[in-house]
Amino acid sequence: MTNETMLQGFSWYLPADGSHWRRIAEQAPTFAYEGVSAVWLPPAYKGQAGAQDVGYGVYDTYDLGEFDQKGSVATKYGTRAEYEAAVAALHANGIRALADIVLNQRMGADGLEDVRAQEVLGQDRDESVGAPLTISAWTRFTFPGRAGAHSGFTWDWTCFHGVDWDERSRRQGIFLFEGKHWDDAVERVENGNYDYLMGADADVNDPRVFEELVRWGAWYLDASGVDGFRLDALKHIDRGFYLRWLREMRAHAGRDLFCVGEYWGRRAEELEDYLGVERTMSLFDVPLHYNLYRASCSNGEVDLSKIFEGTLVSRDPAHAVTFAENHDTQPGQALQSFVQSWFKPAAYALILLREAGLPCVFYGDLYGMPNGGNIPAVTELPLLMEVRRRFSYGQQHDFLDSPDVIGWTREGDDEHEGSGVAVVLTDRDGGEKRMYVGARHAGETWGCVVGEQADTVVDADGWATFRTLGGRLSVYLPERAADALEHDRVLHRIVRETAEDGEEMRS
Ligand code: CA
Repeated sequence: MTNETMLQGFSWYLPADGSHWRRIAEQAPTFAYEGVSAVWLPPAYKGQAGAQDVGYGVYDTYDLGEFDQKGSVATKYGTRAEYEAAVAALHANGIRALADIVLNQRMGADGLEDVRAQEVLGQDRDESVGAPLTISAWTRFTFPGRAGAHSGFTWDWTCFHGVDWDERSRRQGIFLFEGKHWDDAVERVENGNYDYLMGADADVNDPRVFEELVRWGAWYLDASGVDGFRLDALKHIDRGFYLRWLREMRAHAGRDLFCVGEYWGRRAEELEDYLGVERTMSLFDVPLHYNLYRASCSNGEVDLSKIFEGTLVSRDPAHAVTFAENHDTQPGQALQSFVQSWFKPAAYALILLREAGLPCVFYGDLYGMPNGGNIPAVTELPLLMEVRRRFSYGQQHDFLDSPDVIGWTREGDDEHEGSGVAVVLTDRDGGEKRMYVGARHAGETWGCVVGEQADTVVDADGWATFRTLGGRLSVYLPERAADALEHDRVLHRIVRETAEDGEEMRS
């Protein structure tokens, strides 16, 4: 078995030039070389801001860049044909494609409706404000640009719980429609009941809406060929909905679809409650992200021996997708909590080179982020991914035993040639750690592939001393593996460059 690695295949501020699906298709062979086994693609359907929309301002889930709606045919990322080609290119390279599924809200309605509604308090949505009133709500979705293609379903106010804008009084507020109620199985600590997030909040349990979402999901699976889902905004959607919907999707696909959900909770208990007994999906390990974030901006004050304390990966590794950064935590975004650049290599080692959890690499860290002064790529990242794919196997020995310098090793196994790895990192001064790498490595020399340290020799009992510079990460491999890694990386670069030259000559 080869270690799996997920890639979040986009960041927030990608240029809105309709070229991203083509870029993903071109990058697919490199993704495969680096060990990516699944790519989470951004929302592929038309948003209210058309070709400018990152994808979460969902307008029409049947328009994958196929119809002239919201000012363009293509989405921010390209056309439907280019999307299908990107999925096919991933498949051709042995990589699964995961679709970003955003069902909580709709935006950019085609028409207004008069609706009786009750305004509720922003901080407590169970609390009414004033008397019921008639508002003018943007809830009519008829998709004139699509004219009934793929589906004749149109949306009106009865498909939604409520909105946050009254066009009649041109006033912001949270308005719950008459006869509707917020769903119970949503986040209940924040804002009393956090069913409502933004836009027109879909009543996903309304029988007609549920049926329509099942019909759409089946169409989407067939149309796109994706292999699983990343599910958006779970705190704001009735928990029972995805249990039922995923059952329908898996039955339709006739196979197990890998699913990872975004439940933005800082406590592992919240995440475990959401997973419940069904464990029907994985969740992003939000508590671990915050531990990494804190370690990166605490000036060495964080106790690194507790870096996994309170995380999902420490409690349920089989259902934890670990990550250092995403499109919401990057600078300029709603949940900004950017892991500082100096700590990024260590943060990635902590998710990529350990046994537990499925790591998700962020596109913005792999290629840099074209925003706020162009945040550079994490240069060590491709190497760390490759070390994960090739060498990070076998029994793990933890030396997470000091507040400032921690390390761990993997013994390697017979299945992966040259495997075995040692990692040491610090958030303060440089240091060293004596660690056990396994008796099978006795007498070997290990070389440092990240961190610029001298070679170290494993003693007769399988122990060696590993060093790191202040505020840095060191990764060591058996000498033979370190040499092979360097050799193959040069070779890969030559093959890539030759292929790109070929492309240029053809075009
Ligand atoms: Ca909702």
